[in-house]
Amino acid sequence: MEEYTELRRRMVVDQISSRGITNAAVLSAMTDVPREKFVNENIRRSAYTDGPLPIACGQTISQPYMVALMAELLLPLSTDVMLEVGTGSGYAAAVLSRVVKKVYTVERHPDLAEEAKKRFAALGYNNIEVHIGDGTLGWAEHAPYDGILVAAGGPRAPRPLLEQLAMGGRLVIPVGPTQMEQVLTRFIRRGEEQWDEETFGEVRFVPLIGAGGWQVQ
Ligand code: SAM
Repeated sequence: MEEYTELRRRMVVDQISSRGITNAAVLSAMTDVPREKFVNENIRRSAYTDGPLPIACGQTISQPYMVALMAELLLPLSTDVMLEVGTGSGYAAAVLSRVVKKVYTVERHPDLAEEAKKRFAALGYNNIEVHIGDGTLGWAEHAPYDGILVAAGGPRAPRPLLEQLAMGGRLVIPVGPTQMEQVLTRFIRRGEEQWDEETFGEVRFVPLIGAGGWQVQ
């Protein structure tokens, strides 16, 4: 236990602060959330390595730095309500839930969604709700969102996600012309039909599969 606390502290210093992440709430959440509880027991000892790790259903838990970077790019406030597309292990939703008021998260693989729910309950993270479905459609019932994080790479920003942003809301999503390459992109809603767009370098995510993403493989 203590060993993991120390590994986590070192991860934040060596992998995250050192690469320029400064948001205090994000750094504090990354220091608190036990990443080892979001991976299979057999790879638990690798939980704090500097990269993505495999989870069930052929998916991945994102690199810690990428989770921190996306959380910071969301410009989070403690009063914010956010949506995540691509729950996966639940790690990124858990980190966000320590930073903002409420997190809704959508996962297309029922097994992953159910496992993530169990983890949130076991850790007492009770401001996260999980939905099984196609996250490219968003989760209209709880919109508008102050922030939307998409943890998989799509060909474009899905229209429902742009529309479910509050005014001033931020959408952070990897966007690219093929399933192998994306650019981390942030859209900020400035008006009914107006979004500012900014990019933050090349990234590599598993594909966003759905109506507003890629076709099912
Ligand atoms: N945030 C996750 C974590 O912290 O473990 C990592 C997510 S993994 C890189 C991407 C996830 O997006 C996968 O679990 C995949 O099944 C999911 N996904 C892909 N397309 C989706 C869609 N249209 N709706 C919901 N989830 C989707």
